Amino acid sequence: MQVTGKIEPVLIIGGGPVGLALAGDLGWRGISCLLIEQSDGSIYQPRMDLVGIRTMEFCRRWGIVGDVEASPYPRDYAQDNVYLTSMTGYELGRERFPGIGQAPPPKESPQRRERCPQNMFDPILRKFAASQKTVALRHRTRLVSFTQSADQVMATLENADTGAREEIVARYIVGCDGARSLVRETLGIPMQGNPVLTFTTNAIFRCPHLLSLHDKGKAYRHIFIGPEGTWSTIVAINGRDQWRFSIIGGSQQREYNTDEIKTAIRRAVGCDFEFEILSVLPWVRRELVAERLRGGRAFIAGDAAHVMSPTGGFGMNTGIQDIVDLSWKLAAVLEGWGGDGLLDSYSNERQPIGIRNVTEASGNLRRMLSVTPHPDLLDDTPQGAATRQQVGREFTETMRREWFTLGAHLGYRYEHSPICWPDGSKAPPDQPSSYVPTARPGHRAPHAWLADERSTLDLFGRGFALLGFGTDVAATAPLLEAARRRNVPVTFTAIAEPAIAALYERRFVLVRPDGHVAWRGDHIPQDALRLIDVVRGAAPCPEQTASAPTVREENISATL
Ligand SMILES: Cc1cc2nc3c(=O)[nH]c(=O)nc-3n(C[C@H](O)[C@H](O)[C@H](O)COP(=O)(O)OP(=O)(O)OC[C@H]3O[C@@H](n4cnc5c(N)ncnc54)[C@H](O)[C@@H]3O)c2cc1C
Repeated sequence: MQVTGKIEPVLIIGGGPVGLALAGDLGWRGISCLLIEQSDGSIYQPRMDLVGIRTMEFCRRWGIVGDVEASPYPRDYAQDNVYLTSMTGYELGRERFPGIGQAPPPKESPQRRERCPQNMFDPILRKFAASQKTVALRHRTRLVSFTQSADQVMATLENADTGAREEIVARYIVGCDGARSLVRETLGIPMQGNPVLTFTTNAIFRCPHLLSLHDKGKAYRHIFIGPEGTWSTIVAINGRDQWRFSIIGGSQQREYNTDEIKTAIRRAVGCDFEFEILSVLPWVRRELVAERLRGGRAFIAGDAAHVMSPTGGFGMNTGIQDIVDLSWKLAAVLEGWGGDGLLDSYSNERQPIGIRNVTEASGNLRRMLSVTPHPDLLDDTPQGAATRQQVGREFTETMRREWFTLGAHLGYRYEHSPICWPDGSKAPPDQPSSYVPTARPGHRAPHAWLADERSTLDLFGRGFALLGFGTDVAATAPLLEAARRRNVPVTFTAIAEPAIAALYERRFVLVRPDGHVAWRGDHIPQDALRLIDVVRGAAPCPEQTASAPTVREENISATL
């Protein structure tokens, strides 16, 4: 077996979107890493297609928004969600959304969410990661096993073509290796929650003329409701000729042969027509979150850490938030300015967000399946029409929570984080549909346009950012000096705009490299060194209550 003499600072297992984003972000910070992926990177069946607004804010930081906007998904393709008995049958309700390129960003963000399916988004992330000088990507390479000691990780890798094995030594290992994570399994970290919500079957089919078969026009998602309730969906996955059909299924396993799938597709469309099935994927919808996200020098992120129903489009987006939280902490420790507690704060901050998003995704599924049986739904009678009207009205109202998710994507906050210094202010409600911008410690520092047309978000990323509102630069000297003494990178920006000062609410706000607020106050604290030590994970925060949980102990099992 080959043993390389080099020590990799970070070994990333898995080249799905989360692993690729981690490699790219570490490279963007100048940190060396090796990413291995067992496949050749081709995608059998694209899963994610919603790139959430927070993920787009990270893409902005990484300079790849243009690549996402230039991806082949047509930007004028209407994004309506439509509820119907079949494509040629009755329309029960509809939530209208314009094409992605026709919707301006909301006032709370410089970006908008994007529709960019995995077979388009993964290559963008791969190109971003590969363009970093310190990143090495190796496909057709599999993690076989790993062990760790106090100061390093020893991993055995295998070439998927030749079977040749080699030993790699790394400072840290991150498992972005998906739902069946070997890294998680090796660490013995249990998953909590519900292992089976539904046994679902997806089929991608090609039909360039599908739109000409019905009168419902362009829409992103079609949800089919029959007399028995909600039973299937069809999603426009490339806005052209390819569609993803899903038989939602239930908690009992059921396998479908090709003829059965074809019959089901024809039922959903409502007529006999020609199409080609490109791939079929039976899969299990789960509701699981890992008990913790760290074991010594090993971490897990993305689907390795939380597996959720796709209803809401939170899966990958949650994973990308994970790695943005982890990446700067790994960089800080490898560069020598991160304290002992910094890496522990990753699990402390992100595991509760996994629970939050997994729970919301299951709630969305529950709402989608909430239609009770209506034997007269298809009847061409006044009673049938009344039933359709009632079902459509109620379903349209119920489903809004899944479509309007600004709060879910931007409102997550690191309550009780050991590296955020609370200021005693009350948290705004955490609601999926509405987002309340706030610079309260632990929250995403809010967006506002600066006079020079940059976003406040453009000030955050590589190190800490100290913002000063209507104050003289000299007042910041003790904090900047404390940071310098600890080698913590901090840049200071004076902001003159009164509206932004009002939004941030304090004269000084210290923002972490991931864009979350670490501390704010009207005066630089007397013991500025203590503040710097808290936010770099080297000292406990005196303001955090002793009873603050390290990991949220909620029951996540929102059963169907
Ligand atoms: C139908 C559907 C629609 C979805 N839509 C959305 C959406 O719109 N938005 C959204 O955010 N999420 C969505 N999701 C969820 C999203 O697809 C996942 O959350 C996301 O792909 C997880 O990314 P990941 O990188 O963590 O894991 P994965 O994408 O599973 O990647 C893990 C990688 O690790 C590799 N690997 C595993 N073991 C090893 C090993 N031992 N050695 C080397 N490599 C290894 C695998 O080959 C794989 O490439 C959807 C999911 C489904 C099923």
